[in-house]
Amino acid sequence: MKILVINAGSSSLKYQLYNMDSGEVLAKGNCERIGSGGFITHKRPGFENYACEVDLPSHDEALSLVLGLLVSEEYGVLSSIDEIDAVGHRIAHGGEKFKSSTLIDDEAIAYLETIVPINPLHGPPAIKGIKACRRLMKDTPQVGVFDTSFYSQIEDYRIIYAIPYEYYTENKIRRYGFHGTSHRYVSAKAAEMLGKPIEELKIITCHLGNGSSITAVNGGIAVDTSMGFTPQEGIPMGTRSGTIDPTVVPYIMKQRGLSAEEVEDVLNKKSGLLGVSGLSNDYRNVLTAAKEGNYRADLAIKMLSNGIKKYIGSYTAEMNGLDAIVFTAGIGENDSTIRSLVCKDMDYLGIRIDEDKNSSASGAADISADDSKVKTLVIPTDEEYMIALDTLKFC
Ligand code: ADP
Repeated sequence: MKILVINAGSSSLKYQLYNMDSGEVLAKGNCERIGSGGFITHKRPGFENYACEVDLPSHDEALSLVLGLLVSEEYGVLSSIDEIDAVGHRIAHGGEKFKSSTLIDDEAIAYLETIVPINPLHGPPAIKGIKACRRLMKDTPQVGVFDTSFYSQIEDYRIIYAIPYEYYTENKIRRYGFHGTSHRYVSAKAAEMLGKPIEELKIITCHLGNGSSITAVNGGIAVDTSMGFTPQEGIPMGTRSGTIDPTVVPYIMKQRGLSAEEVEDVLNKKSGLLGVSGLSNDYRNVLTAAKEGNYRADLAIKMLSNGIKKYIGSYTAEMNGLDAIVFTAGIGENDSTIRSLVCKDMDYLGIRIDEDKNSSASGAADISADDSKVKTLVIPTDEEYMIALDTLKFC
């Protein structure tokens, strides 16, 4: 079985082709600058990468190019596009309808179009990607895998905001949660690593990348998560503020003469590590500056680690216990400092890590101290593979 995974962004289209019988990636790549030029990188294990400037006016041309490369004599891995058994699409937002991965038909597309107002950044490109695939691969099943669907079983009192109830019923303002595919993947991997059924485990997964979120997974079901109506809620991120007092918004608007869109832009693109440090949204740069004694960089790192700590404490309380913490994504997988700061002074909750194991961790690793009640794991995430596994169920 061969599954193509597509992740369409506003000006990009990432792809990964799997042979699901062996689990190997046959080819992967990224089309960038769609609509304003175009550039493709195409990789096949064991071969030289192919990279080229090419005119990509829309997602249709990008997908045509990808499909052409996949069957080309020089760079291809397939003899025909018909060898692709199904396409899995990463879709950030499934609204209230999609509680699990689903076959995409006209009705599904129509629903995704209705929720563009609550998903204005990621919705339109995802729909474009799906439509391009449906046009160019007419008989191939298209499957939607939603970041939000992992959160579809969260109790209502944890997802409804304490604002007039009609704002939920009429405007769909509630917490949705994001990064669900990553949290689902690493929590399942954690159960595998611990050799226990996931149904018996209480796990907190920390996805720490450019965007960051924390999820409480009880018995394999997400019971709470840090992101909300948008990916803006939660801990400070690369450029996002995370949770702030909502009254700050109108106050900034009045004090600094900013429009609603301008404040949104500040909170989304100029805050977080970048806003506090004034240096960079890239965690590595901020950490280096903090280690060199830069006060604001140090402040940003402390705000981040303390934010994660608070979620771990509150989710342990919500689940009435904790068996494992998982660190994943760019920062969580690679940086021992944040793991060390987060897990410091958590003995009360039964969390103790082994600093040697922490600093030498590479790939999937158990960094817990031998006598730690709670296991602390580092697990590389693989959202694309999770999407491929879900898609396979429709073949
Ligand atoms: P995205 O959310 O865009 O998928 P990633 O998961 O790739 O992002 O995470 C990007 C973040 O990971 C950046 O802040 C980057 O500094 C950080 N990062 C990547 N590699 C390392 C590393 N070796 N050590 C520390 N941080 C890292």
